[in-house]
Amino acid sequence: MRISQCLFTTLKEAPADAEVASHALMVRAGFLEKLTAGVYVYGPLLWRVLRKIETIVREEHDKAGCLELLMPALQPKEIWVESGRWERYVKDGILYHFEDGRGREVCLGPTHEEVITTFVRGRVTSYKQLPVTLYQIQTKFRDEIRPRFGLMRGREFVMKDAYSFDATAEAMAASYERMREVYRAIFRRCGLRFTPVLADAGAIGGSGSEEFMVDADTGEDAIAVCRATGYAANVEKAVSRISAPPAAPAEVAMHKESTPKARSVDDLRKLFPDLPAERMLKTVLYRATFEDREQVVAVMARGDREVNEVKLLNHLGALKVELADEALVRKATGAAPGFAGPIGLADDVRVLADQSVEGVQGFLCGGNETDTHWLDVWFGRDLPQPETVDLGLVKAGDRTVEGDGEIEITRGIEVGHIFQLGTKYSAAMGATFADEGGQLQPFHMGCYGIGVSRVAASAIEQNHDEAGMIWPLPIAPYTVMLIQMRPDDEVQTALAQELHDTLEAEGIDVLWDDRKLGAGAKFKDADLVGIPLRVVVGRDAGERRIEWKTRTGGDAEALSADEVLPRVQAAVAAAQAS
Ligand code: ATP
Ligand code: MG
Repeated sequence: MRISQCLFTTLKEAPADAEVASHALMVRAGFLEKLTAGVYVYGPLLWRVLRKIETIVREEHDKAGCLELLMPALQPKEIWVESGRWERYVKDGILYHFEDGRGREVCLGPTHEEVITTFVRGRVTSYKQLPVTLYQIQTKFRDEIRPRFGLMRGREFVMKDAYSFDATAEAMAASYERMREVYRAIFRRCGLRFTPVLADAGAIGGSGSEEFMVDADTGEDAIAVCRATGYAANVEKAVSRISAPPAAPAEVAMHKESTPKARSVDDLRKLFPDLPAERMLKTVLYRATFEDREQVVAVMARGDREVNEVKLLNHLGALKVELADEALVRKATGAAPGFAGPIGLADDVRVLADQSVEGVQGFLCGGNETDTHWLDVWFGRDLPQPETVDLGLVKAGDRTVEGDGEIEITRGIEVGHIFQLGTKYSAAMGATFADEGGQLQPFHMGCYGIGVSRVAASAIEQNHDEAGMIWPLPIAPYTVMLIQMRPDDEVQTALAQELHDTLEAEGIDVLWDDRKLGAGAKFKDADLVGIPLRVVVGRDAGERRIEWKTRTGGDAEALSADEVLPRVQAAVAAAQAS
């Protein structure tokens, strides 16, 4: 393809709203054009990248026996009411929903469990038709509160979603395992460095789930990893070993301490330098929203632990939890924020505790009175020990629960997420099949998502430099950038045309820079666009000599034109093998 014929434009400046490299570089290189917040036109070069990712996704799914189909984006409310998800998705604010011209409520699909379950329940009636896994590559709609980072968090984006249907829980686990391998193969073939991690299932639900994280410092997700034990989990889900409770002090009656302006554990450490943080119990107030009510929940945790809001949400079975605002804190405690404690809270406050409080005695806690804490408080004596569950947030330096490794916190971009759903949707929606004995059973389902457009962005987050993008070869918009120094030189044109045609005939895509531009400008654009292999046809064209360079670096090499094809083929083979 001649660059002069492909609407190629670049910008010097990144747009003001571009906070991450992939967004800034893609806009500068003309890959991406913003239409409105979180909604983009995918330009011809980006579309080639997305098509290559889709091809890899399709090949691996087809190889594993999955069937491709296409479901509608426009969905009726009724199926979401049937599955029981309408309220939560509406409350979350993520669902685009509206009344159609006939007064019927509809939504634009953020995910397709309801539609696929409707499709399969009308079609699969016997165990003999199982297992079956269906998938589609389609546009999804989510009214993200903060659309940002370009393709990374759009409000309209391309997703591959697959759904497996099995007769038993064991068979579902086997389908899940197979898809896990499909995912590993896909991300490997895309040329990405990634980590599969244990994950929270969120609003999708189900029993087990894992995310595939592209390793990148700019990732929105924090991951707890341990090199010694191989443990890897999203911090939303991660667990760590709780150190032994601190030794209890001599027993004395609990008493009030004046703690002016001491609202945090750090403030209190300054006032009580001899008291370890493990003997300070914090009480954090949340507003929990349920389908039919709201409730204030007080969560106690040891001073050295933070509360994990995802674990709290799951434990409560709430639609939403958020930190209580000042008015609510005052109502529940009678005090300014920062002095909440378990003794003397308003009656309607539910008190929960993180496991870390177990065994802690003679502790300091908030006094429910401004500028006041209680000291030397004992569970059992001064108050009952509240219901304790794991509500802790893992942090760097924590020890693993299994083995004895040290946890590090790294960052990643979630590009894939797989779930064992069990019978959540099939039971709710009456999707059943006849088993061998003729009994009707609900399907055991799994679901599997890949953010196709996010994969493209994550490849650039992981691979770029000051000068521009560096595409992994298998998903690059073109494999070879052919730069012709002087388009008005007939000898150069003839050699460039020959190289272009030879490579294209072998199935290798070539972007041919045939513009009348200075060398500096052309090399700058080539660096920005990040095509992995570069061939420069210049003044030695008469001797059939060219200059060869890769985008990842190294010096330019002078080669015979006849060496180009084998060089390119070797690079393609190496990218496929790695
Ligand atoms: P996140 O936690 O990032 O909001 P999610 O967990 O809600 O994502 P899933 O429901 O698991 O997303 O969707 C499957 C995949 O779709 C994700 O792993 C991700 O790669 C992609 N994805 C989700 N939301 C977006 C978005 N707003 N823009 C682009 N890709 C997305
Ligand atoms: Mg997810």
